[in-house]
Amino acid sequence: MLKNISWLGHASFKITNDKVLYIDPWKLKKEDKADIILITHPHYDHLSLKDISKIQTEDTIIVIPPDGASKLKGNIKTVRPGDNLTIKGIDIKVVPAYNIKKDYHPKENRWVGFILNMKGTRIYHSGDTDFIPEMKKIKADIALLPIGGTYTMDVAEAVEAVKAINPKVVIPMHYGDIVGSVEDAEKFKKLSPVKVEILKKED
Ligand code: ZN
Ligand code: ZN
Repeated sequence: MLKNISWLGHASFKITNDKVLYIDPWKLKKEDKADIILITHPHYDHLSLKDISKIQTEDTIIVIPPDGASKLKGNIKTVRPGDNLTIKGIDIKVVPAYNIKKDYHPKENRWVGFILNMKGTRIYHSGDTDFIPEMKKIKADIALLPIGGTYTMDVAEAVEAVKAINPKVVIPMHYGDIVGSVEDAEKFKKLSPVKVEILKKED
């Protein structure tokens, strides 16, 4: 399943099996046809209309919290933490994402992360979040976690999150653009009790 996950930089991912799914598409270099687009919250580096327009078709379903939905056209499905849905055969669990000691992502905004079940492999994209108590209940095989700090968890907090979630593999994100560096990713790899895959940024 790891080979099906492409990191497009920052929090942006493309995941393919028989469907093409994007999460928080940003700074895309290529046009493509997405079956599903998941948006974690309406910050510009996660909800990018320009990038969505490069991959949205008449059949694309976009999953997004309600406060970003009004900017979009097409097949939109609004979600809140706690929701469970199945879209085009993929089970999606919607989980909370928020900051504890900073104000960029207030809990009351009810922004989200996603756990996708793709043919039995559970992939967790946390969204922009700190290490939050709800993570203790999250079950995932592959976790995509922010490490860049400032707006999200930094390396030390991400290590605590990994201990709580205990996935098989972790992929660091939300670094290398705006915040965080490759050095942070390397440091995370050294400190994590779980296998870390530092993905090479793809176009
Ligand atoms: Zn954000
Ligand atoms: Zn962000």
